[in-house]
Amino acid sequence: MGVGATALAAAAVIWLWPRGAYEPPGSYFYDLSEKKLYAAPRNAFAPEDGIGGESGDGVEAIVFKCPQCPADRLETMYLRTHTPEYKRRHEEARRAGTAVEGLTREWESEHTLISRVDPIAWHKASSDEAIKIGSSRGGRCPEHGLALKPCRPS
Ligand SMILES: [Zn+2]
Repeated sequence: MGVGATALAAAAVIWLWPRGAYEPPGSYFYDLSEKKLYAAPRNAFAPEDGIGGESGDGVEAIVFKCPQCPADRLETMYLRTHTPEYKRRHEEARRAGTAVEGLTREWESEHTLISRVDPIAWHKASSDEAIKIGSSRGGRCPEHGLALKPCRPS
């Protein structure tokens, strides 16, 4: 069996892995009162419970990492959450098993909020400040010189 066939066999094994046994990686979230990153399920929608301290202060974290640095050396670029109105509509839609109705890009960017990690100051996603924060890419790893890449919990 050649290398190609071995790779195919490995791919088949992953494909046939029973559903439910393999959870796809979720997203990084950040607990504002605990000041800690945590892995949330893929369907988590900010703000959510969080991992301690005040409840309801878990927000989405956009996290980058150098491909060669240890898995725990993460850089949080910025945070993202939603207005109470967006959260409410999202919860209603989830309960009903539907998508949020009548969602436009404009409405979404009015009700999505972006902040740096320090200091916490929320800006509408449509604002110039949010666009500036959201375009941070973190540059390069000082140790390896590699560009930092967005990453998800493994
Ligand atoms: Zn590195």
